[in-house]
Amino acid sequence: MLYENLTINQSGHLEVGGVDTAYLAEKYGTPLYILDEQVIREKCRIYADAMKKYFGESSYPLFAGKALCFRGIYPVVESEGLGADVVSPGEIYTALSAGFPAEKMFFHGTNKTDEDIRYGLESGIGHFIVDNPNELEVLDRTAGEMGIRQNILLRVTVGLDPHTLEAIKTGKVDSQFGVPIETGQAKRFVEKALAAENLDLDGFHSHIGSQIFESDPFCDQIDILLKFAVQMRDELGYTASRFNLGGGFGVRYVESDPTVDIEANIEEISEHLNKGCAEYDFPVPAIYMEPGRSIVGDAGVTIYTTGGIKTVEGYREYVTVDGGMTDNPRYALYESAYTVLNASRMNDPADFTCTIAGRCCESGDRIAEEINIAKPERGDLIAVLTTGAYNYSMASNYNRIPRPAIVFVNNGEDRLTVKRETFEDLISREL
Ligand SMILES: *Cc1c(COP(=O)(O)O)cnc(C)c1O
Repeated sequence: MLYENLTINQSGHLEVGGVDTAYLAEKYGTPLYILDEQVIREKCRIYADAMKKYFGESSYPLFAGKALCFRGIYPVVESEGLGADVVSPGEIYTALSAGFPAEKMFFHGTNKTDEDIRYGLESGIGHFIVDNPNELEVLDRTAGEMGIRQNILLRVTVGLDPHTLEAIKTGKVDSQFGVPIETGQAKRFVEKALAAENLDLDGFHSHIGSQIFESDPFCDQIDILLKFAVQMRDELGYTASRFNLGGGFGVRYVESDPTVDIEANIEEISEHLNKGCAEYDFPVPAIYMEPGRSIVGDAGVTIYTTGGIKTVEGYREYVTVDGGMTDNPRYALYESAYTVLNASRMNDPADFTCTIAGRCCESGDRIAEEINIAKPERGDLIAVLTTGAYNYSMASNYNRIPRPAIVFVNNGEDRLTVKRETFEDLISREL
């Protein structure tokens, strides 16, 4: 099986975190998002421990809420020592309402409105990650009006494509996020930040991408950030004390995806950083990372009830399920690969080739194409693995389909954390 927390019980059913999926389907209905709390905690610990060990005491991970944002996740990540990367007032509100401390939040966003800025300042956000000079001006002015001194990081663009390792291609400098180093604009951004009366510049942020399986792209990123930091020290007399490297380690969606040894990668990145800093005689900065997918991705399993098999003779077999693109739009958006199991017949041979289709009136509503599962009958449970990240957070009510519930499992126990939407919920704001 793809992950160790997945087992088969005596009835031949799939268990997640020691809980029978058939029991969960019966108790909470389907579709259902299952999250294994132990897996999330383990991932948090791997990051927190390795970052402290290799990057030093003041380095820690920030959970990227965009991967999975709801109240119940925040006490879990906070108790493991993580900060939070928040990208909107809605995420801030959610985290605050769950008791997450504002000073451990880092506020991202390419288009923070005047209201957003005010809300962030009022909330006592620890760091704004300032995207552009325009935001910098408004933030400085508003902080001044409110009598607040605000810590900031500046988001810069290093011009890297993590999947090709091609450095400084114009296309990658051309981004809607942050300010490019290559064009000289990032230097002017720093000058402006240093001149801002109400802002304290703590360092630099950059994010190179997602689903990264090795340390090399992060090392290349550090080379560019460090060179830039040295330039800022030499030319402006400003020494950055923190780098935020963004998110991005990958998870396994299918057997052929590699497994990332997060600790080993962090060790490699730290060695690279220390070596670079020694060469430039630059004080080693504290490091933040912003993992989202690799904290929650593999903790998630979605279960559906199948309506059965639909055969298009001479073409293919469709297995239809009671969810689809509304709870998991990733196949429709990116043709993402997933591992699919017949959770009701785990001991049967997985020799039935089919396409899993959702319930929407949309031909792109699919979860996986031409995969092999144990042949299902109407009523069987279909499990889709690795759905903890970018499923619930990207879910919609297309076709007026209520969003599923989320249930935590934890060493054989289950606990509802997000209730299933009702039809009343769907019309609750409509006058
Ligand atoms: C998306 C994103 C993340 C999280 O990325 P993952 O691949 O989920 O780890 C972190 N930081 C920033 C700025 C992002 O845009």
